[in-house]
Parts: sequence; C-alpha cells; structure tokens
Amino acid sequence: MNILVTGGAGYIGSHTCIALLEAGHKIIVADNLCNSKAETVDKIKQITNKEVTFYQIDVTDEKALDYVFSNHSIDGVIHFAGLKSVGESVEKPLEYYYNNLVATMVLCKACRNYGVKKFVFSSSATVYGDNRVPFEEAMKLLPTTNPYGETKTMIERILTDIAKVSQDWSVALLRYFNPVGAHESGLIGEAPNGVPNNLMPYITKVAKGELEKLYIFGDDYPTVDGTGVRDYIHVMDIAEGHVAALDKLTSGVHIYNLGTGEGTSVLQLVKTFEEVNNIEIPYEIVERRTGDIAICYADTSKAKKELGWTTKRGIVEMCRDSWAFKTNYKG
Ligand code: NAD
Ligand code: UDP
Repeated sequence: MNILVTGGAGYIGSHTCIALLEAGHKIIVADNLCNSKAETVDKIKQITNKEVTFYQIDVTDEKALDYVFSNHSIDGVIHFAGLKSVGESVEKPLEYYYNNLVATMVLCKACRNYGVKKFVFSSSATVYGDNRVPFEEAMKLLPTTNPYGETKTMIERILTDIAKVSQDWSVALLRYFNPVGAHESGLIGEAPNGVPNNLMPYITKVAKGELEKLYIFGDDYPTVDGTGVRDYIHVMDIAEGHVAALDKLTSGVHIYNLGTGEGTSVLQLVKTFEEVNNIEIPYEIVERRTGDIAICYADTSKAKKELGWTTKRGIVEMCRDSWAFKTNYKG
C-alpha cells in the first residue's frame, strides 16, 4: 500500500516508517519538522535502502496537503503529527488544541476528498486517566489533567463520529503506553530539545553526563517500591503494531492498546539501565509531579487476539537501545 505518514520524521513516526518499508509498503512522509530533523528521513532511507518521498509541510495547511494527495495514489494514512509535551500544553493550550485538532480535521477532509478510507491514529494511554489497572480498551475514558491529553480524547471522538456516517472508513485508534528505546542500528531514536520531560531521555542525558542527576518524582505511591509504575514499550514494537493494525484493518473503529502489559517502576528502570549499560545513574527523590498517576499498564489481550501482535522486546533491550542511540547521536 501507499501510506501517507504524517509526523513521519518524528520519534515514533520514523521507526514506523522503517517497519512499513520492511513490510513492503511505500511511504510518503509529511512533516513540518517543528520537532524533528530532515536528516531523520535520510536515516530511514539508509537503514532500509528504500525510497521515501518527503514533503516538509504543515498538516494544518489545506492547500499543501491537497497537493500531496493529488500527487499520489494514497491507500491509507497514519497520523502521528501533533504536539506532545504535557507541560507545554498547559502553558500553551491554544497552540495545542489548534495544531492537534486542526491537523486531524484537515487530514480527514483530504481523505474524504480523495477517497482514502484507512486511517490510523496515534492516541495515548493518557485517555484512560486514573482508571484501575490494567487499562482495557472498553473502559470509560476519564478526564486527563492537561490540554495535550484532551486533544487525544477529542480526536478519538471526532474520528469515531466520522466513521459512524462514513461506514466504509476503517479507523484504528492506537493507544500507546510509554514508548522508549530506539532502532537497533542506533541511527535513529528520541532526541528531545532541552531538558527532557520523559524518564528515559532524562536517564540517558544523566548517563552521558549532560545532566547531573535524575530527580525521581515521589517514592510514596502504592507501588512495589513507592515510585511510579508505567508500561514501557520498545518503539520498534510500537512500530510493528502499526503495520499489524494496518494489515488487519476492517471497516468501523477499532481501538487497541499498544503496551507490554507489564508495569515497571522508576527505580526498577533505573536499576536495569545501570546493569545493562554498566553506568551509574545518580538520583534524588523529590516531590510528586502534579498530574502523575501512580500506576499505568495495559491489558494487551485485544491486540494479541485481533491483530496477532505482541511485543518482542523487553526492558533490557529498551535500556540497551536507548543508550546505543544516545552514544551515537551528535546533535
Ligand atoms: P514527535 O514530536 O517526535 O513526532 C511528531 C512529529 O509531528 C514531529 O516530527 C513534528 O515535527 C511533527 N508535527 C507536529 N505538528 C505538525 C503539523 N502541524 N504538521 C506537520 N508535522 C507536524 O513525537 P512522537 O513521540 O513521535 O509522537 C508521535 C505521536 O504519538 C504524537 O501524536 C504523540 O502525541 C503520540 N504519542 C506519543 C507518545 C510518546 O510518549 N512519545 C505517547 C502516546 C502518544
Ligand atoms: N519520572 C521521574 N523523573 C523524571 C521523569 C519522569 O521520576 O525526570 C517518572 C514519572 O513521575 C512517572 C514515570 O517516570 O512515574 C514516567 O514518566 P514519563 O514522563 O516518562 O511518562 P508519563 O508520565 O507520560 O507516563
């Protein structure tokens, strides 16, 4: 299939491009590079030895998107393009609602105009809010604590409403848990600008000596060691989940958790990183971070049953590959 990948130069998008190319699909990437670099597209070509068509456009730009759709016979879209920083979304709600919602609606209009009926969307476990674990797809969604999370819930609803009237549309809402790790080549990975918000990029910066120590947000949660528990998933497993979803997509809306089903605490992740890479990570326990929940992990049975997809990589590979990319990365 010819797949349009919006946000394909970004962290999860670029890994998914590799998985799509390796599965025999052709890809067209549309990204405005607001949080990524054009060289990532070259790395995708280098890793796969395959062609990638790239458009540096903003997905909110109707004319630019129309040009892309008119130039290619697109069979399906995977929509990664969006702003994703929880903290920044609290500071800049208008930018987040505008970018994430308008990009999705403009993309949906282009799909309608050009008869593209397969749509895969990057949602997040954040839409479950503080539900009881494990999170199941059928659960009632609870309010998230920030505009970023609200855009995910709203976009899920928009796509569900569209699919209700356009019954030949096939929509997959993929709820990612905590993507970490990097492609095994060490050529692409996650490289956030400035001080990272997320745990793994923070750990790799401490490991490299770019930050002095890790601040662990709370050790008084009702968890195995008091630190927060999350379902970390290797980004290549997430990438392969998209290929499986695309291959199995049938009409209607299908929601899948992409997680491992296993919870890991902050301290457990730090310890594994230290052991796997033989590097000490100094840390200090500080106050809880506002808006954090104690425990988040997936029920993965639906994706396993319906997509035949399960994760192949564990915490050890996640720590190894995150560090391999960090040591390789000049940027
Ligand atoms: P990322 O920032 O690395 O990738 C997003 C890409 O979209 C970037 O390359 C950025 O330049 C591009 N982009 C943003 N707005 C755009 C626009 N209007 N037009 C064109 N390009 C635009 O983020 P990521 O971690 O790869 O996340 C991809 C998607 O997955 C996002 O929608 C994110 O919300 C979602 N998600 C991420 C996580 C995570 O922890 N990384 C978890 C759950 C969901
Ligand atoms: N965390 C931490 N220090 C950091 C970043 C994160 O202790 O510098 C903790 C955070 O409180 C949570 C876990 O690590 O329990 C994962 O946080 P992250 O921001 O990576 O993901 P999310 O909160 O979105 O699940």
